[in-house]
Amino acid sequence: MKKHNFNAGPCILPDVALENTAKAVVDLDGTGLSVLTISHRSKEFDAIIEETKALWRELLNIPENYHILFLGGGASLQFCMVPYNLLQKKAAYLDTGTWASKAIKEAKLFGEVEVVASSSDKNYSYIPKGFNIPTDADYFHITTNNTIYGTEIKEDIDCPVTLVADMSSDIMSRPVDIKKYGLIYGGAQKNVGPAGVTFVIIREDILGKVERQIPTMLNYKTHIDKGSMFNTPPCGAIYTMRETLKWLKGIGGVEKINELNKKKAELLYNAIDNSKMFVGTAEKDSRSIMNVCFVMKPDYKEKEAEFLEFAKNAGMVGIKGHRSVGGFRASIYNALPIESVQALVDCMKEFEKQNA
Ligand code: PMP
Repeated sequence: MKKHNFNAGPCILPDVALENTAKAVVDLDGTGLSVLTISHRSKEFDAIIEETKALWRELLNIPENYHILFLGGGASLQFCMVPYNLLQKKAAYLDTGTWASKAIKEAKLFGEVEVVASSSDKNYSYIPKGFNIPTDADYFHITTNNTIYGTEIKEDIDCPVTLVADMSSDIMSRPVDIKKYGLIYGGAQKNVGPAGVTFVIIREDILGKVERQIPTMLNYKTHIDKGSMFNTPPCGAIYTMRETLKWLKGIGGVEKINELNKKKAELLYNAIDNSKMFVGTAEKDSRSIMNVCFVMKPDYKEKEAEFLEFAKNAGMVGIKGHRSVGGFRASIYNALPIESVQALVDCMKEFEKQNA
């Protein structure tokens, strides 16, 4: 049976990226060696990492004065590296969910943290508006897409101080005005590759302003100076990232994928809004185009497990909601075809017909 992969991350990747990775794991371009066994200092790997960086630069239109780093440790390590490298006195954070809160917790280890606004009062179902960003903060940190709650900041905000963004779950889903940010980071395992590699886009002039000693591996300068090769990079994951970005470029880049993503989201949100049984959990103007969260209306609450089973039997994978929200979450990342969204919508309609 065809599987429709709605996993939140790791998640669906383009078939061609997986197929090309599978070939390169066995034999990298006729070298008789695997991408997993070549030296990270070889000319073959050098070509791979350089092309991957060039694809990032091209797809997101990243200006020359920004560096693109591929590191280990996941987005979670960035929660600590960001304040380690940037927080001298005070940082401002927007609290939009579990991941934002985790970032705030780490920042508090390094200095004063001002949480400018939080949507925790309504279980993070909206993006706060009308907050003030203190102009004496070293930086302002946002989480552009809240993977667990299905809310998203879809514009590049104007910010009076250095803007830092966790874009783990919406990077490459839309064009981004990179110039508005000092630093963007995320785990690759949604739109840009498999788990194991973390991307960091950084403008170097934001560095060098803190007085503390920074351990070598946690210092962005180390990785900038060594072109992400200070230590052994996650070579296999970077290879799959390159193939994923080649696919994205091939289908028309971020503008094109943004159009497709909006269509997919609209299809699913329309089905939810027109349903007797299901209801969305995020406020409409905060809705994410990457993670669509919905629950059963109160009259049908007891049908939740039954629907999950019904959907599973129709080939749906990964639609159980995160425990913080309950219900269902369909992650509809770049590589998920609209046919899979249609299959989920059909499945919801069929279940409703039989049960409502
Ligand atoms: N930030 C966001 C928005 C996420 O969705 C996740 C993971 N789902 C993380 C951070 C943590 O990423 P990692 O597992 O790579 O540390």
